[in-house]
Amino acid sequence: ATPTAVMVATGVGASNGVLIKGGDALERAQNVGYVIFDKTGTLTQGKATVMTAKTFTGMELGDFLTLVASAEASSEHPLARAIIDYACHYHFFGKLPTSKEALKMRQEGFFTEWLLETSDFSALPGRGVQCLVNGKMTLVGNRKLLTDNGISVPTEAERFLIELESNAKTGILVAYDGRFTGVLGIADPLKREASVVVEGLKRMGIKPIMVTGDNHRTAHAVAEEVGIDDVRAEVMPAGKAAVVQSFQRDGSVVAMVGDGINDSPALAAADVGMAIGAGTDIAIEAADYVLMRNSLEDVITAIDLSRKTFTRIR
Ligand code: ADP
Ligand code: MG
Repeated sequence: ATPTAVMVATGVGASNGVLIKGGDALERAQNVGYVIFDKTGTLTQGKATVMTAKTFTGMELGDFLTLVASAEASSEHPLARAIIDYACHYHFFGKLPTSKEALKMRQEGFFTEWLLETSDFSALPGRGVQCLVNGKMTLVGNRKLLTDNGISVPTEAERFLIELESNAKTGILVAYDGRFTGVLGIADPLKREASVVVEGLKRMGIKPIMVTGDNHRTAHAVAEEVGIDDVRAEVMPAGKAAVVQSFQRDGSVVAMVGDGINDSPALAAADVGMAIGAGTDIAIEAADYVLMRNSLEDVITAIDLSRKTFTRIR
């Protein structure tokens, strides 16, 4: 393609909300063989909502929710927001919120004076959070977080978790003072266009892949819903770039689509990194493309544009 054709294509992209950082990125996209999607916030709406909460030790539900929300208060993770909204509603209204009520709570902002004092907070990427509440070690996160701390999950709770995860929900486990305490079930619906885009890529001869830090069972349930067969789950943040590289090994051109800080090494490692416009700044910086309309349809728009710009002269 001539420099003029590249300029025209870049302009066409921009007017469709697809920002392309340079002619090389535009050229590479035509040969994409794999598109690797992050799950949370990329295939899903990133609007996590707590659907259910259950204690297994006789701790009162209100106390349990206050404990968990307090532990999450310093976390920036989308799951933390969802948990605090839910606990806040229960605290003020004395009943569990519907998903609509929890969303409204978030939109209107909320007060946090009712949370317990915590200390020694740390965020553990890919696992959860830990801190002291009332001087007692509190853990909120996935199975790995609890196992790493030598806390076992009772069979009854494990059964509850499996049920949640089989229904595409993320199970969050809570331990307090060295004991397993309870579980929260969190849902994050798929983006409306996700399945159509996955289907469209397949028709273009491109293989869709999903990568996530979430557990295997939830990941597979979501992947099945969206039509993706190849899933890499329980990938620690540092591991996403390695997944990209594993698909590049045979010389394939790999696109990565993501939104989070977690995704930025993978976006940089990919031949074509595509960041969701609503994503974090770090992801946007690491990417070659920015999808400003936050629609996954623009993954196809971008590849089409490259094919149309470069195919003619081959
Ligand atoms: P993803 O790749 O899906 O964006 P992350 O790597 O951010 O996921 O997190 C992986 C898993 O770690 C989550 O599914 C959750 O189980 C756990 N986790 C991470 N941060 C938190 C948190 N603040 N509270 C509870 N669980 C968390
Ligand atoms: Mg994400």
